[in-house]
Amino acid sequence: MRILVVATRNEGKFRELRRLLEDLPFDLRSLWDYPHLPPVVEEGSTYVENAVRKALAVARATGEISLADDSGLEVDALGGDPGIYSARLLGQEATDAQRNAEILRRLAGVPWERRTARYRAVVAVALPDGTVRTFEGTCEGRIALAPRGSGGFGYDPIFYVPDLGRTVAELLPHEKDRVSHRGKAMAQAREFLRSLAG
Ligand code: IMP
Repeated sequence: MRILVVATRNEGKFRELRRLLEDLPFDLRSLWDYPHLPPVVEEGSTYVENAVRKALAVARATGEISLADDSGLEVDALGGDPGIYSARLLGQEATDAQRNAEILRRLAGVPWERRTARYRAVVAVALPDGTVRTFEGTCEGRIALAPRGSGGFGYDPIFYVPDLGRTVAELLPHEKDRVSHRGKAMAQAREFLRSLAG
């Protein structure tokens, strides 16, 4: 089986990507299997740039196929913030709960109709020879008035999906996969990945 290295150290993300890759015949690795690799600095100005940079760096360094996800939360009433800075809102040391509280604080007084938001994910798949393809997915929702639920990770307790009447943290894993930005990007990536698996 061909090795596929998922280029992330984010546990929530890895759990989901592993699930979304479950039925493809890859020998799955993560960056925890390559502890000597230096972290890739996310200094691009778009999700595509960051995802491509991460996937290419890991494919070149390991000599294996690599898959990277760059994603974020875009809140319309905040002009699209935190966007590509979602992981770094309030700095590297902040907790998810603190970041969620900060978004709720910035949206204090903003009425329900104007609390629209989306998750966006770009998945890049790179080969050691420099070939790279990108796939995108979005998930539309609203920022809840208070956190709810304990599933998922990151902003999931405050991201409400109107069609399902629940926050993402209240969804079962397979329910999240069906509607999530990451699930949709991976659905786009599936055919290419299948062709690489041989
Ligand atoms: P990055 O792609 O490593 O720069 O980080 C993406 C960040 O966006 C995560 O650390 C979360 O803060 C947020 N994010 C992306 N996808 C999700 C999701 O599915 N649920 C909750 N938060 C997410």
